[in-house]
Amino acid sequence: MLTTRPRGTNDILPEEIGKWHALEKTLRLVAGLYGFQEIRTPIFEHTELFQRGVGESTDIVEKEMYTFIDRGKRSVTLRPEATASTVRAFVENKLYTGPQPTKLYYLGPMFRYDRPQAGRYRQFHQFGVEVFGTRDPGVDAEVIAMAMEIYNRLGLKDLTVELNSVGCPVCRLTYRNNLQKHLEFRREKLCTVCQERLVKNPLRVLDCKNPDCREVTADVPIIADNLCGDCAGHFEKVQEYLMAFGVAFELNPRLVRGLDYYNQTAFEIVARGIGAQSSIGGGGRYDGLVEQCGGPDMPAIGYALGMERILLTLEQQGIALQTTSAVHVFVAVLGERAQLAGAQLAQHLRQKGLIVERDYLNRSLKAQLKAADRHNAGYTIILGENELVNNQVILRRMGDSSQTVISLNDVEAYLLKHIEEGHS
Ligand code: AMP
Repeated sequence: MLTTRPRGTNDILPEEIGKWHALEKTLRLVAGLYGFQEIRTPIFEHTELFQRGVGESTDIVEKEMYTFIDRGKRSVTLRPEATASTVRAFVENKLYTGPQPTKLYYLGPMFRYDRPQAGRYRQFHQFGVEVFGTRDPGVDAEVIAMAMEIYNRLGLKDLTVELNSVGCPVCRLTYRNNLQKHLEFRREKLCTVCQERLVKNPLRVLDCKNPDCREVTADVPIIADNLCGDCAGHFEKVQEYLMAFGVAFELNPRLVRGLDYYNQTAFEIVARGIGAQSSIGGGGRYDGLVEQCGGPDMPAIGYALGMERILLTLEQQGIALQTTSAVHVFVAVLGERAQLAGAQLAQHLRQKGLIVERDYLNRSLKAQLKAADRHNAGYTIILGENELVNNQVILRRMGDSSQTVISLNDVEAYLLKHIEEGHS
């Protein structure tokens, strides 16, 4: 136990951190391009927030939450997603009193007691955005386009945007009743979970993966044909905007967010060919949630991307994200007197903006040069007692092993010039 991490969690090791940084950089860049500002909310919240804000009849609340009683005997939960937290923060900090819309993004770890497998973890990372304060269908299309912009910038291929509308509480209720009636006759053919869903949340029967349930629901009426005028108009506009943006999409009538405060636009981005965990992002409109969480009646839309899934998809598609730069200079020293001078030189060069490594183990020159290679250093400075006396260093270009003797006073300017010119 002491030497193993909890099931479903990951260590992100130094050799992997470069791609995380690169991914985070793209996420923050695109968020900025679209005018989103970052919000950071607590990792844990009152359990009630998620019960209300995610929904009692969802898988997340029913069986996936990390909930515990703290020492003050309060029930708290590690956030399973960040929409509820963002809505809570929006309401609590009265961001609704400012000019609207409010466009927020977040990035960080989420926790779900899921069955771990490739692409599904108990601690995973999401990036997400939320827009508060507008019903404009152009915004719905824009958040979808923004998600695609992120994937495109990362170089991901073979993605599909699946799109649906789940209507509003009024037209959804009519549809829900219709659907219930339709399925009631074939109740026994549904899986046991769906038999329960049929009572509590019939729309969710549509997204069950069980082949028997799929067959039963193959010819049921679809929600897009049952929308009220307002919702149908909104749905059409979203599609019009997407086409204008050049974002391809497929209508998927099975895509549902079967909660009362989710409405109209629902979408998911699916990566083909990456196996069972193919959803690399999803979102939708939730005009009722702000009010549900104690705020004013204020529309909102958001989406979240799974960061591990994106990295996994990139890997499967053979795309390497650009990782952080290698060490510019390795400082190798020979002899005790050179130790201090070498350390001092390393300090100085770092302050000038160079990435500098040095030897801490009193190794032979050969071993130090090996270490420089391992660090992928562009140059190695060799500083021995002789050089010290003459106020000089040996500068070795690691690419071709060529060496020059150069004055200690000139080494900084030389390195800055050559590294800037890309000769490192
Ligand atoms: P959701 O909040 O369930 O809509 O999920 C949004 C995105 O987060 C999904 O499309 C996945 O990419 C990712 N995701 C959800 N659950 C997990 C998990 N357990 N492990 C890794 N990624 C996940």
